[in-house]
Amino acid sequence: MPQTLGNLFILTAPSGAGKSSLIKALLEKHQCTNAHNNVMQVSVSHTTRAPRPGEVDGVHYHFVDRAEFESLIEQDAFFEWAEVFGNYYGTSKIVIEQTLRQGIDVFLDIDWQGARQVKAQIPDTATVFVAPPSKQELQARLTKRGQDSAEVIEQRMAKAVSEISHYHEFDYIVVNDDFAAALAELDAIVMTRRLRKEKQIIRHQQLFDNLLGE
Ligand code: GDP
Ligand code: ADP
Ligand code: 5GP
Repeated sequence: MPQTLGNLFILTAPSGAGKSSLIKALLEKHQCTNAHNNVMQVSVSHTTRAPRPGEVDGVHYHFVDRAEFESLIEQDAFFEWAEVFGNYYGTSKIVIEQTLRQGIDVFLDIDWQGARQVKAQIPDTATVFVAPPSKQELQARLTKRGQDSAEVIEQRMAKAVSEISHYHEFDYIVVNDDFAAALAELDAIVMTRRLRKEKQIIRHQQLFDNLLGE
């Protein structure tokens, strides 16, 4: 893909570490401090898992059945896809490309397998690993969220160690202990990526033309 103004970010973490909460808070922060400057959005994945109470089709996920998902794989519609906890999860290609071209930053909340696939296709992607402060706290957050059965929580805790074992593959690491501190760190990563020369040249081409003109 050619250089776009928008930046691609991936947040990966064991389930319950807080990546959805961090992305949601970051989006809210940017939209309320600068209402006309809606410059970031989270990618809505496709999944074959059942919606949790309160989850809305097209908002949290595009909920599809296995046959539909497999047909989308055949049509090459996914940027990346993976099987996580026995369900398919995938990121649609067209939406990501169009959004980045419009200059909007895109956040992917995806597992380590997906992160690896995207990084291989777009090396410019900023990958962030969100770690919980402890195993006990991870378990407490999964329980507190109250959206998964005891069996699912146990399955997710068992999977956490294998997810965490990939931490060194990421560009940035944020430990989500104090939420406000973790949010500030994520914000700093976003700002740093935006200020890179390659992006600023696209954003401020007119300014530099004017500054250097007669
Ligand atoms: P969802 O989008 O509805 O699934 O919401 P989240 O999982 O992002 O967050 C669930 C609730 O936890 C929301 O009411 C958040 O405001 C709240 N929350 C998120 N992070 C924290 C935190 O660090 N501490 C506390 N006390 N609440 C939090
Ligand atoms: P993930 O998207 O990584 O599965 P969530 O964002 O759903 O995780 O967070 C899991 C639970 O932990 C939620 O109930 C959320 O409110 C809570 N949480 C997130 N970050 C913190 C934090 N720093 N301190 C305490 N609770 C948190
Ligand atoms: P959850 O069921 O808690 O919403 O998500 C379970 C796991 O699937 C998380 O690790 C999440 O990051 C991952 N996931 C969600 N969407 C995608 C996706 O589009 N692609 C990949 N590879 N993983 C995803």
